[in-house]
Amino acid sequence: MTAHVLAEAGYSVLILEEGRRWALSDYGNNCPEGMKKMYRRRGMTPIMGSVPIGYAEGCCYGGGTEINSGFWHRTPPEILLRWKAQYDLADSYPKDLEPHFIWLEKNLHVSLHGREWPASTRMFARGIEAMDWSYQEVPRVVEGCESLNFCPNGCPSGAKRSMSLSLLPQAEKNGARVLTNCRVKMLIKRNKRITGVLANLLREDGTQELIRIDAEHVFVCCGATETPSLLRRSGIRFHIGDSFRVHPMLKVAAQYNEDINAHKSVMPLLQVKEFWPEISLGGAFFANGHLAMLLSENWPDNNLLMHQYTKMALFYVAVRGTGKGTIRSSLTGEDTTSIRYDLSAEDLRHLSKGLARLSALLLAGGAKTVYPAVYAIEPIADEISAIRWLDQLLPKAGISLTTIHAFSSCPIGERIDRCAADSFGKVYHFDNVYINDGSMIPDSPGVNPQGTIMAFARRNALNFVETNK
Ligand SMILES: Cc1cc2nc3c(=O)[nH]c(=O)nc-3n(C[C@H](O)[C@H](O)[C@H](O)COP(=O)(O)OP(=O)(O)OC[C@H]3O[C@@H](n4cnc5c(N)ncnc54)[C@H](O)[C@@H]3O)c2cc1C
Repeated sequence: MTAHVLAEAGYSVLILEEGRRWALSDYGNNCPEGMKKMYRRRGMTPIMGSVPIGYAEGCCYGGGTEINSGFWHRTPPEILLRWKAQYDLADSYPKDLEPHFIWLEKNLHVSLHGREWPASTRMFARGIEAMDWSYQEVPRVVEGCESLNFCPNGCPSGAKRSMSLSLLPQAEKNGARVLTNCRVKMLIKRNKRITGVLANLLREDGTQELIRIDAEHVFVCCGATETPSLLRRSGIRFHIGDSFRVHPMLKVAAQYNEDINAHKSVMPLLQVKEFWPEISLGGAFFANGHLAMLLSENWPDNNLLMHQYTKMALFYVAVRGTGKGTIRSSLTGEDTTSIRYDLSAEDLRHLSKGLARLSALLLAGGAKTVYPAVYAIEPIADEISAIRWLDQLLPKAGISLTTIHAFSSCPIGERIDRCAADSFGKVYHFDNVYINDGSMIPDSPGVNPQGTIMAFARRNALNFVETNK
C-alpha cells in the first residue's frame, strides 16, 4: 500500500523484501511445500507465554496477503472510538477511514462468494440459524473464487487479489523497484535521522552480500513481529515492542454423518456476529494435515478419525485478545525475534464461552461430535457437554492455541506516554522513519485485520505525501 501511494506520487521507491518472489505457477502447493516457500520459519513461530501459541506469518513478495483467506472487514466503529479514547488517534473516526475503505474495496474487488455455498458453509449456516444468532457471509479480497481450497498456499488461479497481483504491480509500473531475498538487518541512524539501511542480499546462486542503501525516508512495514524487532535492534526502542497483541484462536473438528468434503472446497464463508467484537466464531481452512494436527491433541483416542476426513470440517473460536505481549530481538547477536504474549483471564473465559457456543451451534447444525484442540478433554457430543464451558474454564495446561492475527506492537496515536509513533506512523523522536503495517494498530480490532491495516496504511501514506509537498 505504501509503495503504491508513494510511487504514484512520484517518489523514487525501493521495496526490500526478505522473502522470494514466486510465480503463480509456484502457488497452490500442498501445505508443507507452501509453508516452506511462503511462510516465515515454515509457519512454525512460537509465541511464548503462560499458554504458548503457534503463530504463522507470510515471508514472500506480497507478505501475508499471498497466503491469507482474504476475509475483509471494515474496522468496527466501537473499536475506532476506543482507539480515539485510549490512544488519542487523530483522524480515525469511521468517516475519516471511509474513503480509504471505499478505494480499497473497489481496487481489490472485495466481494461475496457469488456462487453456491459449499457443504461446510451450509452446515455452519444451518447451526447458526438454529441458534438464531446474527451472522454474515464475510466479503473477501477475491474475484471469481473457484473454491480450490488453496488459500493458505497461494491462490493458483489468481482469483485472490493479493498484493503481488494487485497493488505491487501497479507500484512497479509507476517506477517502484524491488529487491527480494533481501532482509534488512538494521537501520542506520544519525542523530534524529535514519540515513539508510544495512541489508543482507541473498543471491540465486546461494551467495550473500551485506549491502548499504541510503534513503531520504524509511517506511518500516515488516509486520507486527519483525517491525519492532528491526527497530529495537537498530536502537529505536521508545514504546516499541512493548504492547504486542494477537487474536488467540482455538480450533475444533466437527464430524458429520454425511460427506462434507471440506478438503475440496473453500473454507466456511460465514462468521457469527452475535458475540463480536469479543468473540468470533468462524470456519477454518481444511487439509488432512491440519485435521491430523488437531486430532493429535488426543491421538490415541482420535487417530482413527483420520479415515473419516471426508465427513469432517474445521471451525474456530477467536477472541479479541486482551492479554499483553512483547517483541524482542535476540540478545545473542543474531537478528532473530522472540515473541511473548500472556493470555489474560478474560481471554481464557472468552475462549471457554466461545467453545461452548461454537460446539452447541455445530451440533444444532447436524454435527455428530465436536473435537476441540484441547488435551485430555472429552469430545463434545451433546448440548449439555457443550454448554458446560459457558461456566467452566478450559484447562490452561491443555489448550492448543494458534494465531495468524498479530498487531499493536508499535501503537500509533498522540498519547506519547503509550504510543511508539504519532497518529500517522511517524516514529516519535525521529524525523524520517515511519511505521505502516499491522504493528501500528493500537489494539486488537476483534475482526480480521487486513482491511484495518490497509485503510490506515493508505491514510498514512497519503498524509505523508501531503505534508511533504
Ligand atoms: C494463513 C493466514 C491467513 C490469514 N487470513 C486472513 C484473512 O482472511 N483476513 C485478514 O484480514 N487477515 C488474515 N490474515 C492476517 C493478515 O494477512 C495479516 O494481518 C497482514 O498480512 C499483515 O500485514 P502486514 O503488512 O502488517 O505484514 P505482512 O503481510 O506480514 O508483511 C510483512 C512483510 O515484510 C517482510 N519482512 C519482514 N522482516 C523483514 C526484514 N527485516 N527485511 C525485509 N523484509 C522483511 C516479510 O517477509 C513480509 O513479506 C491471515 C494471515 C495468515 C498467515
